[in-house]
Amino acid sequence: MKSISNHFVLVLSLFFTAQLASAQVHTVRITLPKNAGMITEHARQVLANQITNRCDAKIVDGKTAELNIELVTETTATSESFRITGDGKPNIRITGSDENGLIYGIGKFLRSSRFDQGGFTPGTWRGSSAPAGKARGMYFASHFGNFYEAAPIDEVSQYVDELALWGVNYLVLYFPEFQFTGFDDVAAQQLLTRLKSIMHVAKANGMKVGLLQVANGSFKSTPKELLNIPVPDQLHRRGDFGVNLNPAIPEAHTALTRQWALLMDQFKDVGLDVIVYWPYDEGGCGCSECWPWGSRGFPKLSNDLSKISRDKYPGIQVVLSTWVFDTPEAGEWEGLSKYLQKDKGLVNYIMADAHEDFPRYPLDKGVPGGLPLLNFPEISMWGQAPWGGYGANPLTDRLQHLWNETENKLSGGFPYSEGIYEDINKVICSQLYWNGQRFTADIVREYIAFEFSPDVVDQVAKALEIFESNHDREHINTSAKEAFRLIEDAEQKLTPRVRKSWRWRILYLRALIDREMFATKGKLEGETLKNAFNELTAIYHAEHGHSMPIHPPVIQ
Ligand SMILES: [Zn+2]
Repeated sequence: MKSISNHFVLVLSLFFTAQLASAQVHTVRITLPKNAGMITEHARQVLANQITNRCDAKIVDGKTAELNIELVTETTATSESFRITGDGKPNIRITGSDENGLIYGIGKFLRSSRFDQGGFTPGTWRGSSAPAGKARGMYFASHFGNFYEAAPIDEVSQYVDELALWGVNYLVLYFPEFQFTGFDDVAAQQLLTRLKSIMHVAKANGMKVGLLQVANGSFKSTPKELLNIPVPDQLHRRGDFGVNLNPAIPEAHTALTRQWALLMDQFKDVGLDVIVYWPYDEGGCGCSECWPWGSRGFPKLSNDLSKISRDKYPGIQVVLSTWVFDTPEAGEWEGLSKYLQKDKGLVNYIMADAHEDFPRYPLDKGVPGGLPLLNFPEISMWGQAPWGGYGANPLTDRLQHLWNETENKLSGGFPYSEGIYEDINKVICSQLYWNGQRFTADIVREYIAFEFSPDVVDQVAKALEIFESNHDREHINTSAKEAFRLIEDAEQKLTPRVRKSWRWRILYLRALIDREMFATKGKLEGETLKNAFNELTAIYHAEHGHSMPIHPPVIQ
């Protein structure tokens, strides 16, 4: 059924595209339905900002505008879907089945529009679309002084607005207790204020918001006698970070539940919709009562904490992550299945992913508890350090490969993001959640046309392929010169606004850095690399970032 409807949309869009020759306009009027809600009002503002930030066209109120964009919501059976109609002379109607659908319709409309022909050239895509995946999430790891923690809040807010246009409908953030002495720590309060601001913007964009937390994580002021027993980790997969308590000690369990209640209370004025519990890297306990953590201590503690969350936020959803449960000796997948067979508790989703391939267990044996499955693609850190230190890190092929491994069994996911340098990877994941039949290379082409220009799609797509083939810093080959040439050529065709945009600069700098590193045989030296790394640092606001992993390389 899904493939038939996709096919229909494609035919429809080609048909209409052929019918519509669009001319650029300089004045645009945007109308709203009567009694528009907060999300619709915000969507109008985002649409207006996108047009005026990208070209010289103006938003006007009068009836003399060259183009009228009518935003409408009409409830249909398919939530979050949209339809775009109208001949563009002078009317275009974007209809959402709800307020969220309206945002995604605006995104699709903008992406088929042009901004580089003097004025605004309205998009010619017509048809309708509905998402396949329900939980099209994103996880901002807000720590280490990275972009989410350090950038001016307006930049982060605009970034959230822009992600919504690609269909993102969940945003989870992180409160890293181990960085602070307690909730009254000034730095903790500063971060909490920031997290709440980001959540408010996310909600204005129709997103559900929440936290991804380490179930047994705590503040750095925790007394030593409450700490965990380190987890067995012969294969060095589970990580060993943070301040982790042993919930089998009654005082530690009491401290964790008390602290959890206080954490929940910090977000009273925003409201939380989802909690993702994290097992390892930070987290875990290897004592005889907790181990294996993934099938004993972890689900038990998560359930205790979820009762507190549900008391305070009745509709809250619970996601249990199974990260690195594929380490064979502990049998955690099997154990968790047995645990949830007896009692699913409050869990709504199982999240699975790993360092490399997608875990086979939930695909071959079924998801524990028969629950819907989410992924957690690693789009940030894979194969490069410092993370984002060399500019954009498009992983088009890798994400296609990982997606194929999931056999279309996902209900969505939460890509793991450390910053904005993996913007393309975020877009790829969001669009796969929307329509799992799409090819990642096709999504990348849509991104290039929208963010840069339809005229540079072939060149830039080819350059991005080369970036991915040169991803490993130890093996940058002569193709880096070709990628730089392609990017330099493409730049000639871009508007001054696009050339200055951070999305273009991180692509340009990646091409430049790769070419230089090929020439220096990997040595980080010389003025060109120094300036490139400094510019990236400024774009990320990473001046005070944790030196490794967040700060780009420093050349004295
Ligand atoms: Zn324990």
